[in-house]
Amino acid sequence: MTNSLKLSLDPELCQGHARCFALAPEVFRLDAQGHGEVRSESVPEALQAKALRAVRACPERAIKTTGGDGA
Ligand code: SF4
Repeated sequence: MTNSLKLSLDPELCQGHARCFALAPEVFRLDAQGHGEVRSESVPEALQAKALRAVRACPERAIKTTGGDGA
């Protein structure tokens, strides 16, 4: 059974490095101030590995995950 990966991004922690967007633009976008936003809380399975790379690359640890294969 597949456990779908969910993301939440803490805008208080995000400092706008945009690494999440650079690594996984299908999953993240940037707001007008250049801060990261999650496009859709639930990540399709095909994008999970990419999304997790972006989560790990966030220098502020601003993106939290629940579920997913590695959780
Ligand atoms: S990588 Fe982290 S700090 Fe940078 S925009 Fe994304 S969530 Fe914000």
